[in-house]
Amino acid sequence: MFSPDPTRIAPSPQVHGPSDLQPLLASPVHPYAEFLGKVAKPGRYIGGEEQQRVKPQGDGIVCRFVLAFPDLYEVGMSHLGTRILYNLINNADDLVCERAFSPWIDLEAELRARGLPLVSLETFTPLREFDVVGVSLQYELCYTNVLQNLDLGGIPLRTRDRGDRDPIVIAGGPTATHPEPLTPFVDIFLVGEAEEVLPGLLRTIGRMRREGAPRMEILAAASRVAGVYVPVFYYVERDERSELLVVAGRTPEGIAAGAPERVTRVWVRNLDDYPFPSEFPVPYAEAIFDRAAVEITRGCTEGCRFCQAGIIYRPVRERDPKAIIEAVLKGVDAAGFAETSLTALSTADVSCIDPLIKELVPELKRRKVKLGVASLRAYGLNDSLLDEIKSVGINGLTFAPEAGTQRMRDVINKNVSDEDILNSARRIFERGYERIKMYFIMGLPTETEADVIGIAETGRRVREVARQIGLPRMPSVTVSVSQHVPKPHTPFQWAAMESLPDLYGKVKMLRELAKRYRLELKTHNQQESWLECLFGRGDRDMADVLENAYMAGARFEGWRECFSFDRWLKALADAGVDPNKFTRTLPLDARLPWDHIDIGLEPGFLAEEYRKALKSRVSPPCGKPFGAKVHATSTAEAEADARRLVCYDCGIACDMSEMKQNRLVALRGLGELKGQRHGRERLETDAAEAAGPGALIPTERLRGRLNPSRHADDSAFKAAAESPFCRVRVFFSKSGPMCFMGHLDLMRVIPRMLRRAGVETAFSRGFTPVPRMSFGPALALGVAAREEVAELDLLLPGAAEDMAGLWSDERRAAEAVALHERLASVAPPGLAIVGVRIVAPGERRIGELIAGADYSVAIGTEQATELGKVLQQRLAGPLPIERAAKASKRGLKRATDGEAQVIDVRPRVVAAEVDVAAGILRFRLDMFQEPGEEGASKGVRPREVVQALCGAPVADHRVCRDRLLAKIEGEYVGLRELGPIFNAMGERWRRDASTTEAVEAKHDA
Ligand code: SF4
Repeated sequence: MFSPDPTRIAPSPQVHGPSDLQPLLASPVHPYAEFLGKVAKPGRYIGGEEQQRVKPQGDGIVCRFVLAFPDLYEVGMSHLGTRILYNLINNADDLVCERAFSPWIDLEAELRARGLPLVSLETFTPLREFDVVGVSLQYELCYTNVLQNLDLGGIPLRTRDRGDRDPIVIAGGPTATHPEPLTPFVDIFLVGEAEEVLPGLLRTIGRMRREGAPRMEILAAASRVAGVYVPVFYYVERDERSELLVVAGRTPEGIAAGAPERVTRVWVRNLDDYPFPSEFPVPYAEAIFDRAAVEITRGCTEGCRFCQAGIIYRPVRERDPKAIIEAVLKGVDAAGFAETSLTALSTADVSCIDPLIKELVPELKRRKVKLGVASLRAYGLNDSLLDEIKSVGINGLTFAPEAGTQRMRDVINKNVSDEDILNSARRIFERGYERIKMYFIMGLPTETEADVIGIAETGRRVREVARQIGLPRMPSVTVSVSQHVPKPHTPFQWAAMESLPDLYGKVKMLRELAKRYRLELKTHNQQESWLECLFGRGDRDMADVLENAYMAGARFEGWRECFSFDRWLKALADAGVDPNKFTRTLPLDARLPWDHIDIGLEPGFLAEEYRKALKSRVSPPCGKPFGAKVHATSTAEAEADARRLVCYDCGIACDMSEMKQNRLVALRGLGELKGQRHGRERLETDAAEAAGPGALIPTERLRGRLNPSRHADDSAFKAAAESPFCRVRVFFSKSGPMCFMGHLDLMRVIPRMLRRAGVETAFSRGFTPVPRMSFGPALALGVAAREEVAELDLLLPGAAEDMAGLWSDERRAAEAVALHERLASVAPPGLAIVGVRIVAPGERRIGELIAGADYSVAIGTEQATELGKVLQQRLAGPLPIERAAKASKRGLKRATDGEAQVIDVRPRVVAAEVDVAAGILRFRLDMFQEPGEEGASKGVRPREVVQALCGAPVADHRVCRDRLLAKIEGEYVGLRELGPIFNAMGERWRRDASTTEAVEAKHDA
């Protein structure tokens, strides 16, 4: 019944046929599909993700905007600002926002070789065709990528070379507060927070462009918008004291345009007017932070003197905690993320952080979603909070003492003591956390050798705490040290950057101490920080340096593998720029290149803080009662607290009564949520008790399948590792952008899909629990698939009965149909569920079954005609192919021993045929590895078979894997057809309990 004709491929007529190959291969993949398979991680470039928004290009649109992030996709997709802007603009009916990210060096080379432009992910539109190109400036080392995006997007680099038809380039983000090095390349800087002004600005630009207004008129109109800096309307001169180029006034055109003398930062008064978006394209390729992150506050109360964000995001503003919880849960449910995080400049200083986490964690536990809490301080971590965070699978915590001695912490105004650090470490280790990571900065003003030694000493003392507790396994203590970069708009903006030789010496000392104290030490590249200082405190002179370096190949300067110090030294020399003028101490009375940007501070505030720093005098946090470290955690506590809040009248003009009142309202709101949750939990308990005990399952029937988890605590994952489960095979097709998703990325997509469907997975039993699942063999990037398989352990209702052998085949089939419908409704674009089967207990895993695969390849009718004439003759002899050299991380290497390798693929080709009319070659590959079999021929690639048969290569995106095959008693059978076959064969293809136990344990390990 299931034996195929050995000379022909005999695919199942219902699923496989010549006519339905084309939709899989011809679906709109990407205009660059021909070469995307050649570059690393093509998933970065394909777009088409879930929750991507492709808007119609009709008449109602007044401005098309592309957000060109100057870094890789995985970095840009993790950036909260990208999420905020993408939704803000796309929520407006008359605006469009698309995304583009810097292409990695390999794709840039392919684009340049073919003369093709960088395109957006949504509609594959070249950047030059948008009305406005937005540039997100997160840090100075991305500046060469700003030029790369413009250049590859087909936009002249310098503003002076752009014509009326070229897009307007707008840049925003933290480094737009000191923009001078980028001024020749950017038309407009938006200083501050974009929410309130950007949509209006885009409408103005879009309308004027549609009316045919000249470029300078558009810039003039833009310059009158709050927070907008149009550099072309300002002139510079060299300041005698600092020797830097500073903005000295407006040009006549600037005055005529009505551009302001100083550009004032814009900021959002009430963050709740702009709810944090819970929907955003869900990355296919792994993002740096692959989670549903939610911004909970902007600004910070602490006033650390090195920290630019603490100044340029003043005042502190907190989102409504109820809205935060809603955004987190909606984000997690909509995208199916396994992790979420709350982000703030200093999470511990958010007024309601304690009750907020306590309300959020039960909901996350229910969903098996981890909660990451970033930017902790070494205080405010009470015991119950630590327990809550641990219970959702977090095993390590990170906090930032920043300096290793109390003296140095006073200089930088870091409100943390040694006692705070060690107490927190003790309570963290006592709760079984396995890792502590601490961030430090060296090279701070007034730093001595004792302060540097203090960094390692702090790490040693934290390790000593773990030793004193007597933990069975020593936790890891990581000390991460970066160097201070004096930043504009901070009290340290006048301080010198420490010289590179001195920094090298300090790193050497820290390495020796870390080795002695058994600390893990991470350091940040000193030369990159030096460059960051040059661009941070740089003036318009740095523009030529930037362009020189870009032309010499500088890209991704924040990536260690790309950074070249020598290239920058040459770029500086060629531009005749002395770098020391940017790194030395600047006179307090000098004019500075960022003085024309008004952050909103009173004159003299920063200088006063600098003077206090040099005398080691602290300024206790503003917005808190004097001497308080943490906020009230309950309404009663907050109501009873009559203390005044500290304020230095820095110029931002906070309303302290309103600040107090808002915090009280937030606590009351959380109190209401807590009451509602308790009510819900009581109802659930009553309902469970009323239902009474379920059917009793004989426990010996579950033997070997429910081993205890090695997780000793009560985390959500322990239960999910020990619960009864059904083993489910999900069959799916891959087409369109999904074909360019790597195997590891696919392994993230499936659990997300399950979470969105509300289907719980079983977790592995190890210390780092992961969903229990297996996949078929990896596909080459670009290859489509008609019937792939994932084998999943799912916590379906009644799973204990199934494991005990009490489910009939009919029951399994019915459950499979229901599951199929649920999964099909949440499958991401390009992935279609084609079948679901619940396998009987003891049935072999797919890893033990898969032995071959059927492929179809679109070779075109001409080639198919030629091949049809010689196919049988070619199959009669060997089919040699030469494996070319392939690149590896260590350079170019050959497949074996440095030589090209010739292999015969014929033994692996079971059968082949040509459909001349459809232009398709089909063949069956044997993947079964005989015991002891080695050698390259076992891993024959479909395109190698095509090359061997046709004598010409074929791109992977012309290939489709039709189905995976098992080999049953010497014959190939499609994996989906195994159910009835196994049923017919009875116990011969099942394993006994002891074998099952051994295989499951191996799988879990
Ligand atoms: S006005 Fe007062 S409370 Fe507000 S940021 Fe400035 S110092 Fe802090």
